[in-house]
Amino acid sequence: MALTIHSFVLGPLGNNTYLVVDDATQKAAVVDPASYCDELLVEIRRRNLQLDYIWLTHAHFDHIAGVHEVVQASEPAPQIALHPGDLELYHSGGGASLFGFSVQPGQPPDIHFEDEQTLLLGQSKLRVLFTPGHSLGHVTIYSEDAGTAFCGDLIFRGSIGRTDLPGGDYNQLMESIRQKILALPPETRLLSGHGPATTLAVELVSNPYLRNLQQHE
Ligand SMILES: [Zn+2]
Ligand SMILES: [Zn+2]
Repeated sequence: MALTIHSFVLGPLGNNTYLVVDDATQKAAVVDPASYCDELLVEIRRRNLQLDYIWLTHAHFDHIAGVHEVVQASEPAPQIALHPGDLELYHSGGGASLFGFSVQPGQPPDIHFEDEQTLLLGQSKLRVLFTPGHSLGHVTIYSEDAGTAFCGDLIFRGSIGRTDLPGGDYNQLMESIRQKILALPPETRLLSGHGPATTLAVELVSNPYLRNLQQHE
């Protein structure tokens, strides 16, 4: 079953927000809705998509700031999914105050992600990979059929997520990458929460953090 993925760069921090569409049913999910998401909402309406889910890789404010707006604009309301490890962060506004921002609190999550959970979007199946280290409840959402992983702030082109925020843990983040990301096929497209898309194959040869990981094996 084929998925179509649309990318948007939104909000004051230039977050990547992804719109994932199951081609067969035109059912859709939004990954990490950032603030000022008009462009995203217009696209959902223009394509007449049924927005079933908001999937959150983690609950930092820049990744959840658009939840309220997307829910308000959707009828029926999409279900919100988050790993319970980030629930407290979610309800506290995602740490926005640390950065001088304020975030309209999102509706409470309907679905609690767990490791290796299967997600159904129309006729497509995706898989949740628990990848803590950047935050306590960070997940990666992987579509084998689309050969794509939504990595949030776990890994970026040439870099990795910061681990100096509350709940961050460098060793845990590296372990998440080693166990969950390095286990994916090298051609897997990595779509991160910030910055350009990449592939695991490219990162294996050019990302200094991954090179260190491989040397230590
Ligand atoms: Zn983050
Ligand atoms: Zn982020």
